[in-house]
Amino acid sequence: MVGYKKPCRFCGNLVDELSAMCPFCNRAHPLQSVCPYCMAPISPGWTVCNACAKPLVIPCPRCGAPAGPDSDVCERCRSVVRYRCPTCVAVVMPGAKKCDRCGAKLKEYWKSKGL
Ligand SMILES: [Zn+2]
Ligand SMILES: [Zn+2]
Ligand SMILES: [Zn+2]
Ligand SMILES: [Zn+2]
Repeated sequence: MVGYKKPCRFCGNLVDELSAMCPFCNRAHPLQSVCPYCMAPISPGWTVCNACAKPLVIPCPRCGAPAGPDSDVCERCRSVVRYRCPTCVAVVMPGAKKCDRCGAKLKEYWKSKGL
């Protein structure tokens, strides 16, 4: 089954509507704002997900600048603020053995990140 293509909301390139990640700019959820933990749709400006109650805006671990649900890298200091499962793009805790959401093993992923 082939999905329709729609413009990525970050870079504007056309991506398959079923893509979890834009292949052009490498950002998660190119077509719709969703909670990075449970994938429920969210509205701009929300700070907490109304489905799983996890915080959507988190402080950067290095400089403390707030990072919203669409930024995995701090806009101020470029530190990584979130890691995502390479299979389903749900947020995973650094060093976790597998993804809580889809069960994908993460060992190779951490190795590729140098962790
Ligand atoms: Zn893109
Ligand atoms: Zn959620
Ligand atoms: Zn920062
Ligand atoms: Zn996963």
